[in-house]
Amino acid sequence: METYESLLAAVTVEDGTPVIDPATGQAFAYAPSATLDDLDRAIDAARAAQPAWAALSDDERRAALSAAADEIEASSEALAQLIAREQGKPLSGPGARFEAGAVVAWLRATIATELEPEVVVDDGQAKATVYYRPIGLVGAIGPWNWPAMIATWQFAPALRMGNAVVMKPSEYTPLSVLATAHLVNRHLPEGLFTVLAGDRELGEAIGKHPAFGKVTFTGSARTGQAIMRASADNLTRLTLELGGNDPGIVLPDVDPKAIAEGLFWGAFINTGQTCAALKRLYVHEDVHDDVVRELAAIASAMPMGPGTDEQNVLGPLTTEQQFGVVDRLVEDAKARGGRVVVGGEPDRAAPGWFYPATLVEGLDDEADLVREEQFGPALPILKYSDVEEAIERANRGDAGLGASVWSSDPERAREVAARIQAGSVWINSHGTIHPMAPFGGVKGSGYGLEFGVEGLKAMGVPQVIHG
Ligand code: NAD
Repeated sequence: METYESLLAAVTVEDGTPVIDPATGQAFAYAPSATLDDLDRAIDAARAAQPAWAALSDDERRAALSAAADEIEASSEALAQLIAREQGKPLSGPGARFEAGAVVAWLRATIATELEPEVVVDDGQAKATVYYRPIGLVGAIGPWNWPAMIATWQFAPALRMGNAVVMKPSEYTPLSVLATAHLVNRHLPEGLFTVLAGDRELGEAIGKHPAFGKVTFTGSARTGQAIMRASADNLTRLTLELGGNDPGIVLPDVDPKAIAEGLFWGAFINTGQTCAALKRLYVHEDVHDDVVRELAAIASAMPMGPGTDEQNVLGPLTTEQQFGVVDRLVEDAKARGGRVVVGGEPDRAAPGWFYPATLVEGLDDEADLVREEQFGPALPILKYSDVEEAIERANRGDAGLGASVWSSDPERAREVAARIQAGSVWINSHGTIHPMAPFGGVKGSGYGLEFGVEGLKAMGVPQVIHG
């Protein structure tokens, strides 16, 4: 069992890339900086280790991953403290302990998922069966918002399917991913799974390297496009989990008090830095003022501060750059006549990248806060009078990751949900992902599915045996 101190010591170096504590804006540790030579060495080691791993039975691979899940569970408090320190999300609430728990939960769900050969033709004359074979080497590139959990979404199904993995975490949050791999690797053959902490050049090198049969990427749409271009010559298989601008539609039949907490966490989980968070809220005019009042009461009461303090449930933004994005969008909203109901005035003299939970009403859909992904704690609340109009407005823009419909009539809510262009639509909640339910975007939010049996298929190559 690791302590925070022992885990930190295992993944840091004396002289490397500073890792910033977002609650203070100061470096608290130094991460190794992998070079392109390190990438070549990791690829060689992965290629050497992969055939024997693929030759194991599925049950043997599951047993190794199960031991890895137990290992992480035993050290999950240490991992949670590292996540809270590095990424900023609070230990409490749906925060760092929740993320460390999700690492274990997703590993176990990936182990438990059955992927059987599928007989697709068997008519007495012909027989055809679909199998999923290992790809070989999978490259994985990740973001900074849920670093350890998203890394697990990438490496767990890839390893289960018999592949080797070389992973590059975000340069802002390398330590929690290195720590996760440090624990997992106690139960895997040497060289099979390597995490290389490095900057975007390392990511570019993975994107264009012909050794990778697949690259799985979670991050911004712009980077996803760059990876697609870089990998085109190799015809590399891709899963692209990109940004979102999730709409929520509140129908007139809701009880505003009953839905307010679900709406709040849908938007403000991880201080808004969540791909499938609620990012623009369309509320029917009959209930608009009540929904705003109930949400404002919750938003103004939620304690925000350093993630390592137990009493907080909202933390800082992870990077100074993201603070700047949120600040620009809220200032623009004010200039366009938006009314800030709560928040909107960060303490610029205070240390760290804290931006208060902010609600803005009275904007039109052309405001940047509505059109762009804020990826932070500032929610625009938009009034509508006709559900058809709300659906049309929800479907504007490039993004298509998640959405939600809020109603006391589930049948009506499902009718509206079916007409929203998004990979996942939740009814009376938002962003409540489940490890057995496939997750992925449409339109500009990318393509490919993670989780469950579809997630396993995405980490294999299909082969059809005739006969
Ligand atoms: P980003 O695209 O800036 O960076 C993601 C990763 O890509 C980092 O590791 C970075 O070093 C690397 N990278 C940068 N340029 C690269 C290049 N040219 N080639 C290869 N790799 C490169 O994204 P971010 O700011 O870390 O993450 C935030 C974004 O991620 C938001 O848009 C968010 O919605 C999205 N996101 C999506 C999901 C999802 O499941 N769909 C989940 C989490 C975050």
